[in-house]
Amino acid sequence: MKHFGIDIWGDNNFIIKKDTINVNYGKQPSLLEITNNIRERGYKGPILLRFPHLIKKQIDTLFQTFKNAKKEFDYKGDFHAVFPLKVNQFPNFIHELMDVTKGYNYGLEAGSKAELIIAMSLTPIGAPITVNGFKDKEMIALCFIAAKMGHNITITIEGITELETIIQVDKELNSNVKKRVVPKIGVRIRLHSSGIGIWAKSGGYSSKFGLTSTELIEAYEMLKEYSLLDSLWMIHFHIGSQMGDIAPLKKALREAGNIYAELKKRGVESLRAINIGGGLAVEYSQHKHTQERNYSIKEFSNDVIYLMQEISKSKNVPEPDIFTESGRFIAASHSVIIAPVLELFSQEYNEKSLRLKEKNPPLVQELYDLFNSLKKTNAREYMHDALDHMESLLTLFDLGYIDLEDRSNTEILVNLIIKKSIQLLKDEDANELRRLQDRIQEKYLVNFSVFQSLPDFWGLSQNFPIVPLNKLDIKPTNPASIWDITCDSDGEIGFKPKTPFYLHDIDVEEEEYFLAFFLTGAYQEVLGMKHNLFTHPTEAVIRFDKNGNYEADGIIEAQNLMDILDDLDYDTSIIDKSLKNKIEESSNLTNDEKRELLGTLYLYLSENSYLKTIQALQK
Ligand SMILES: *Cc1c(COP(=O)(O)O)cnc(C)c1O
Repeated sequence: MKHFGIDIWGDNNFIIKKDTINVNYGKQPSLLEITNNIRERGYKGPILLRFPHLIKKQIDTLFQTFKNAKKEFDYKGDFHAVFPLKVNQFPNFIHELMDVTKGYNYGLEAGSKAELIIAMSLTPIGAPITVNGFKDKEMIALCFIAAKMGHNITITIEGITELETIIQVDKELNSNVKKRVVPKIGVRIRLHSSGIGIWAKSGGYSSKFGLTSTELIEAYEMLKEYSLLDSLWMIHFHIGSQMGDIAPLKKALREAGNIYAELKKRGVESLRAINIGGGLAVEYSQHKHTQERNYSIKEFSNDVIYLMQEISKSKNVPEPDIFTESGRFIAASHSVIIAPVLELFSQEYNEKSLRLKEKNPPLVQELYDLFNSLKKTNAREYMHDALDHMESLLTLFDLGYIDLEDRSNTEILVNLIIKKSIQLLKDEDANELRRLQDRIQEKYLVNFSVFQSLPDFWGLSQNFPIVPLNKLDIKPTNPASIWDITCDSDGEIGFKPKTPFYLHDIDVEEEEYFLAFFLTGAYQEVLGMKHNLFTHPTEAVIRFDKNGNYEADGIIEAQNLMDILDDLDYDTSIIDKSLKNKIEESSNLTNDEKRELLGTLYLYLSENSYLKTIQALQK
């Protein structure tokens, strides 16, 4: 894995310059510089950085590639896009998104009432809003209200009962009015072709959503009967997220295209659009052999345009407008989580910790001699000897022949021998070395929560690229596994020999070392859990001015301890009173001590729950 696989997942968004990883934009500041800038203002713990220029890049790419494809095939339909709010509803993201999409007539997709309210308030009048998912009467009424406000809103029918409710709401809200206003109507179709991968459940016959062909005919007849057929204008499908292979999309497009053509032929004049949902994949892999996507955005858009044109030609119907609801593709790259390394677990395996005696057991003495005479030419042989000796010494311990100090010396020496050998042999690509790495992997304790910041790693084994912020001019040699600070053994990103991952050997008491987790902008924030009460990290928006200088603003600090408890509906005034009383009534303390302790306690209560780095504690 060269340069942490940045050529595979990085999309030129970041570059490695000398020893740091830098933003490939403006004056190319390093992520380390940005991180230190924010930490110097007193924000500790993990930090989520947002880069609005990367949102803009994805939006420009999406619109430009479809524009090119339309031009290449001389396609007559229009292209439109909406952002599915479920992918990231956080205001610091959505406001930037709306800002960079001005001029594109870009809208929002809502799947719940709360999301619909965001869409109704933030989408400019005229830009499309689409509404998917299960809806009750109230949600459908909200869609009517949006339409009456003047919004260009499409309500997607997911089942026949929803259509019945639409008819009912239409009667209630459109009697005794100056003008009957109805939202545009779309139908989600249940495809016989299904998606693949971990999110496959969104498409296919067993999908939660969509109308079968029988229901589609039924819906057509109902719409006609209640004079709503004029509002039917969109066919919708969504085959699932992170579509690694393009083949299922092509199948789905053929199916949806033919349904569109069939309805056109039945005389649905107003039908004009096909909404292809989301699914456009992001490359998260740091290794060539585990790449997740087998197509480019250009291939994707060409396939969509070409297939729709082909079907329209053969069935002699007009070429439909194309809508996409890509979310992951738009949002993933915009945010990076930066988290400080707090500790290396085998750090105690250093020479200073040895407790050698005047007279050591012969095998321990021999280990010590091996360590001191280790060089490149004998490293392999000595490593084998060391492992042999360790087996024997551990047996001797079990039998009561050596004591705890001897055992500790054994562990330290063997660890040092393996580590030094790997250093000496690092340019030789031996299988055996790789096997050994499993034994000496270093555990990095990192100040963040996997459950809060990478929930899809926990739930779906989705990998996210990880890169240290500095030392990138030095080849990292520690096989690494990453531990978060939750008290849960699932909060670990383990070392995998098939996709080996290395970090630098550092002494965190001497220097700071940060890890960056990339491509965390889609789904992770709102799926993040407050396991152990670690909350959404402190976030900042990194904006570049026209001279290429950056500024970190829009800082929202992670919740403080009392706010976290308040969120869980604890009565914090009772907690506050109880803590105060316990100090005041303690017989351990003088009055001065009580006052001082209360001050310290209140200071802590105003801080967030992430750990302070060792340096911060010393300050
Ligand atoms: C989730 C969802 C999307 C977004 O999918 P991505 O894979 O993130 O692009 C789009 N449309 C619908 C209906 C969805 O449910």
